[in-house]
Amino acid sequence: MKTLHSIAEIQSVVAACKAEGKKVGFVPTMGNLHGGHLTLVEKAKELCDVVVVSIYVNPLQFGPNEDYDSYPRTMEQDQELLIAHGVDLLYTAQTTEIYPEGSEHHTHVSVEVLDGMHCGKSRPGFFTGIATVVTKLFNIVRPDVAVFGEKDFQQITIIRKMVKDMCMPVEIIGAAIAREETGLAKSSRNGYLTNEERTVIAPTLYQCLTSAREAILNGERDFDLLRRDAFAKMAQAGFKPDYFNICSTETLLTAAADDQSLVILAAGYLGKARLIDNITIEL
Ligand code: AMP
Repeated sequence: MKTLHSIAEIQSVVAACKAEGKKVGFVPTMGNLHGGHLTLVEKAKELCDVVVVSIYVNPLQFGPNEDYDSYPRTMEQDQELLIAHGVDLLYTAQTTEIYPEGSEHHTHVSVEVLDGMHCGKSRPGFFTGIATVVTKLFNIVRPDVAVFGEKDFQQITIIRKMVKDMCMPVEIIGAAIAREETGLAKSSRNGYLTNEERTVIAPTLYQCLTSAREAILNGERDFDLLRRDAFAKMAQAGFKPDYFNICSTETLLTAAADDQSLVILAAGYLGKARLIDNITIEL
């Protein structure tokens, strides 16, 4: 695996691969890699000849009181994992090159129809930060295919819309959520949890999602009741619930009783972490 730090280097290596007719797959990450990221890498390997992973903790997507400074940075360990999983190129973007004049003075990309809801309500500017850096990474790497996790359902929905609306020449592929045995979705932020929070309390989030899904499959259509039940269960377990929204998968707006394709998006604060998860329902 080659590790490249500059825009010029990654661009020239990817251009050479493309000149040989190779299909380039891209997996953008913030590092501190776990099984969820590796699912994305496997998917990219299945579909492409060359796999590029980027590791960049993007300051633009963190709010002033969020965990940008303390976000886990484990580059050596990440490099070993990527080598073991057959990744060809690692691009470690540098803030001096990504935001040379500071992130506030940079052009911003936002998908306004989708970015003020759900996670965007509690994290203003979060999705603009993501859409901006993903646009930038796409323009730098110029992949044929990019793989994103369905764990961040609102994020992949926003990226798909941005790519479609802006005619970006890249195919977006989703990868299923990788979970721990307890059902907890794998996440770099699980590392902020104590052992008890991680093994006993955090899995409640997924349990709330599966029981709401079960109720909907059994005919329940009082979505507000399901939301209140889930909030109560999360709070009782030790979460501070943020949201539990039953939505149309297409628009991410509150589902109507006759919608056939639903997603339940949920988030809650637990100890030092804010955890998100989701589950889809096809009726
Ligand atoms: P992050 O490093 O958290 O920005 O995540 C990078 C990519 O990995 C995003 O596309 C995430 O959706 C994806 N990802 C993170 N956790 C998981 C997971 N548990 N299952 C599947 N994909 C994931």
